[in-house]
Amino acid sequence: EATIEVSGLRKRFGSTRALDGMTFTVLPGQVTGFVGPNGAGKSTTMRVVLGLDTADEGHALVGGRPYASLRSPLSHAGALLDAAALQPGRTARNHLLWLAHSQGLGARRVDEVIEQVGLTPAARRRAGGYSLGMRQRLGIAAALLGDPPVLMLDEPFNGLDPEGIVWIRGFLRSLAAEGRAVLVSSHLMSELQDTAGHLVVVGRGRVVADTSVADLIATA
Ligand code: ADP
Ligand code: ADP
Repeated sequence: EATIEVSGLRKRFGSTRALDGMTFTVLPGQVTGFVGPNGAGKSTTMRVVLGLDTADEGHALVGGRPYASLRSPLSHAGALLDAAALQPGRTARNHLLWLAHSQGLGARRVDEVIEQVGLTPAARRRAGGYSLGMRQRLGIAAALLGDPPVLMLDEPFNGLDPEGIVWIRGFLRSLAAEGRAVLVSSHLMSELQDTAGHLVVVGRGRVVADTSVADLIATA
């Protein structure tokens, strides 16, 4: 089941209220844009959905279940959280082979995702020489390895050149057209308005608007 359900999440870091009742649902078959200024709680929400962080209150479900309870979680949800978290001495292909191995997948699947994200010409070079855009592509390839029905990408447009932005927009739409639930964060509405069918706009740890892009345009 390709859904993400976030319900009443609250979380504090010391005196900072990072999440303050965050509630929304991501449905399959469309890109959901998760838009709001820096510090609004987008990354924290994604980390809580993936069980990398715990909320003080509320719950988050992937395909109707807590992520931590899924038997092979990477085949349920893939994520791009931090494109910088790469080992520089390792080639992109070796990085993916290592991740694939830990999921019981082989080189064939690795070469498929490399092709899908357009990294084939660079895949045997050390990732330390990669541009941020190439690291984003590698991170997306890693998220896709387990062919998950749910994808979460945190600021995937960061560091991409114009060609990369055009590529990723089309790629996100094609992933959604395959029936996946795709949640994509950005601090810029302009990056998502042509790509997302659904927008969840957040500020200060909560949803301030939750609408289809068609409705947003109709009421503007
Ligand atoms: P966004 O992704 O929308 O930029 P974040 O979820 O990263 O927002 O941050 C929400 C708030 O929580 C911010 O005020 C941020 O500084 C704070 N925050 C996030 N992670 C931590 C952390 N590990 N320790 C302390 N404060 C944090
Ligand atoms: P090390 O202590 O050498 O960094 P670990 O014992 O943590 O490595 O992990 C075993 C192997 O897997 C090492 O070669 C390490 O570099 C690699 N590895 C660890 N984490 C990751 C990761 N997130 N992605 C890719 N490779 C990793």
